[in-house]
Amino acid sequence: MSPSSAKEQSTKTTTAARVALNTGPAASSAEARKNKRKTQNIVMEDTNRTSPFPCEEDRTPKRPRTIHPMSPTTNGDSHTSPSQTSESDTIAKMQNRLEAIAKCTHTKTTNRDSQRDPIDKYTVHDSFPTVHEAHPAAALDNIDVQRAVDWVQRPGGKLLAIPFDNEAQNINAHHMIKSKIFTAATEITKADNIGISGPTPSKDARRSPTSFLIYNLTEAQRDTLLQHGVWSSSDITFRVTSLYPPCPDFLFTIRGFTTHIIEEVQITVLEVWTDNVTRDFIHNTINSFEPPDRPDVASSIQQFLNAVRISYLELKSSGGNLSPHFNVYSSGHLIAQDDLWFTLRDFLASRTYTTSLQGDGDNVTTPFHCGVCHGVDHPRGLCPFPGIKGWNGPKLRPNTANAPTRGGPTRKGGKEIARYV
Ligand SMILES: [Zn+2]
Repeated sequence: MSPSSAKEQSTKTTTAARVALNTGPAASSAEARKNKRKTQNIVMEDTNRTSPFPCEEDRTPKRPRTIHPMSPTTNGDSHTSPSQTSESDTIAKMQNRLEAIAKCTHTKTTNRDSQRDPIDKYTVHDSFPTVHEAHPAAALDNIDVQRAVDWVQRPGGKLLAIPFDNEAQNINAHHMIKSKIFTAATEITKADNIGISGPTPSKDARRSPTSFLIYNLTEAQRDTLLQHGVWSSSDITFRVTSLYPPCPDFLFTIRGFTTHIIEEVQITVLEVWTDNVTRDFIHNTINSFEPPDRPDVASSIQQFLNAVRISYLELKSSGGNLSPHFNVYSSGHLIAQDDLWFTLRDFLASRTYTTSLQGDGDNVTTPFHCGVCHGVDHPRGLCPFPGIKGWNGPKLRPNTANAPTRGGPTRKGGKEIARYV
């Protein structure tokens, strides 16, 4: 190489290095300007190529690592050091690109939302609280008998759907509620051959009936609806139950005591349920059955009495004083006959429960009617459903914290307290 050629080559290399590093003075030669334009173009192309996604990471200016476009080794065929740097840069760019794709794919959820299962909008909970009813056929209260008979005689799988909240007490809203239950049951079961029937009030109905019939269900569809028992979305929340539900667990509440101590009440309940008066009553009740049935009835009643449990419900009276309620439950499913359940419940609720320190308690068989779930063992202010994570159904009413409720007691202002054994 001639000295002039060597000088020219040296100038090219120096110029390229200056342009590429962007640290030296501006090149004065036409070639340097050309090189600079090349470098800029390559950097821009690189930016466009590596930032096809609107992620913040992609908008971050990249250090112009393509600093060797003027080098004869930029094609990567050379084993010189600049070539190795270019190759590693290519790998790094690819890594950046893949990372950007991964992040953008991860955050791009619009299509997923539009394609999600309709059932996803319902509250998910492993085990919803039990809604305790006043008696075995409470779901059919206030319904015209002939309509109830039509429901029972309808062939195919059937379930009652009982909406939460008080909207169903307005019979003018029943058509809309039917449509909502129909939509929900179709979404949940993916059925295309079911129907919804609304209730007809009986002549002596004290208020509008609130149960609807879902009919023509397959066994699998029926099982699906019963799997969670309660279906809650922003459109509607309802409970499903059999037309022949088991007898209720809730029996009555004892009030009038001024104690938090559940054990005090438990002791007196056990004493009463095992005393001679109860023994005689149970003996006579068993003998009222046909002899072949008596062993099974006796066993059922004994298990029922053994299954007693007490819960403590802390409420305030309208005067602001504490008004403890002790709810008495057993296992209603152990009693197969509705009339036997009534016989036992009424007898046990008629007994007087006394403690040595508290005196006599006052028993009530239907102390409440919850405005959220329609359970009879708690007021709306202590309904457990609105506290469930992800609950979509009716909420507690914050402005009713100290307002009197039917039956007198109110929930404890400020903090709701309910202790259960
Ligand atoms: Zn409730």
